[in-house]
Amino acid sequence: MHELSIAQALVELAVESAEEGNAVKVTRVNVRLGKLAGVVKSSLDFCYDFATENTILEGSQLNIIELPVIVYCAQCNDEVELEDIQAFFCPICQTRCPEIRQGKEMELESIEIEL
Ligand SMILES: [Zn+2]
Repeated sequence: MHELSIAQALVELAVESAEEGNAVKVTRVNVRLGKLAGVVKSSLDFCYDFATENTILEGSQLNIIELPVIVYCAQCNDEVELEDIQAFFCPICQTRCPEIRQGKEMELESIEIEL
């Protein structure tokens, strides 16, 4: 259960920052998730409910912001968004673009709390 340990780590982080802000309850957790992060969104959603049980996050909403994959294309000298994450080719000039600029993120962006 890869996603469960990720959910637990996220919950720990969120609890820490909620406590720093003297929150009594967390209502929403915003997470940035890149398409190459290797995390299945629906599994993370599912595991979140378990991970938040008996914490101040219980009953809160997990909001996953999905980030597209952005690579750098040397030919275009620009950052381009990949439509197909299986093939790392520039959609404009078809050059191979192995340099990933965005898409591997898995991070806690912010939390919304009740004081
Ligand atoms: Zn290109």
